[in-house]
Amino acid sequence: MASEEIPVAVEGAYRLMPTRLQEKIGDDKTRCNLCLWQCGLHHGQRGYCQAHVNRNGTLYNLSYGIVSAIDIGPIESKPVRHYRPGTRVLSVGSYGCSFRCGGCHNLDISWGTEALDQLARGQSKAAFVTPERLVQAAIDSQVQGIAFTYSEPAVWLEYVLDVAEIAHERGLYTVYVSNSFVTDEALSLLKGKIDVLCSDIKSMSDSFYQAICPRASVSQVLNSIKTAHDLGIHVETRTNVIPGYNDDERELQQIAEWIVRNLGDDSPWHVTRFYPAYRLAHVPATPVETLERAATLGRQAGLGSVYVYADKGCDCADENAPVGDYLPGWESLHEVNQCAESCCGEEGILITRYEREAGLLPRASVK
Ligand code: SF4
Ligand code: SF4
Repeated sequence: MASEEIPVAVEGAYRLMPTRLQEKIGDDKTRCNLCLWQCGLHHGQRGYCQAHVNRNGTLYNLSYGIVSAIDIGPIESKPVRHYRPGTRVLSVGSYGCSFRCGGCHNLDISWGTEALDQLARGQSKAAFVTPERLVQAAIDSQVQGIAFTYSEPAVWLEYVLDVAEIAHERGLYTVYVSNSFVTDEALSLLKGKIDVLCSDIKSMSDSFYQAICPRASVSQVLNSIKTAHDLGIHVETRTNVIPGYNDDERELQQIAEWIVRNLGDDSPWHVTRFYPAYRLAHVPATPVETLERAATLGRQAGLGSVYVYADKGCDCADENAPVGDYLPGWESLHEVNQCAESCCGEEGILITRYEREAGLLPRASVK
């Protein structure tokens, strides 16, 4: 029977990328330390975000280079106001998030379950973009920075760090839009690579956080924001005010007081308007008076820069364009093509081909 050698890796092709922060915690169990879920995974299992998988004891990021959406706009739209105002950024996101916000406007991308399942099955047609190609697209588009947004950047940190390094070498700044449910270890990797963190402070109530992420607490999120600030990253914060959920005056005041105490009275606070979506489709959009009241409370707490956005909802909202619609030349991006039926493996996680290409399997004969 005829046989042929399988190439070990294809330059510039999609491949599994070892998860950046992982530790063995048992014979067949490995923990991911990228976010505070700290998922302990056995062979074949994927983490809560669905973007990391255990293969024979080693964790791999499935979404490295998989771009779900891209857009170009002013840095103020992130929202970031006190860093390089007037400049423009290329925003990019992948699939997967560590939270499940009931009012998320971006479910296909942020939860990304279907897209990540397709990747895991080897059936994805998603766009694969090397870090070099993404930075080149930003330069070709004449922007001054790259923003990681739309989904939670911590769950594809491997790619974020690679892009950020090249972006800095080529004179671009970097912005990281996050829910801040991340480990100190992951934050320390951002030092020197990420210039700006725009973080949500969604609430001062543990029960609010636990409704969207059973393991999250207010103190964890606030500690992460403070740690980023202490690392020298420029930090701006945002609260999306949801009627009946986090619009209590005392709570808004506490958020502002925390910012004053921990980030300084000159630290910008962005107060954004909630628009009904998904599980919160029954909740009305935030009244403008509520947003203005929040701003007043912020100023009374001592904040010098409170920005109100009465015209838009979550940053995740409908501003992002699908890859390929936007930039000239994106049609030449690699697609991750469907696996041949014969190449796929076990447990419904059909990534044998990618494992071979990444050099994770011994060279083998194909019949
Ligand atoms: S990034 Fe977070 S949710 Fe995803 S596998 Fe790692 S610890 Fe789990
Ligand atoms: S709103 Fe942001 S943090 Fe919440 S699920 Fe959507 S992307 Fe994730």
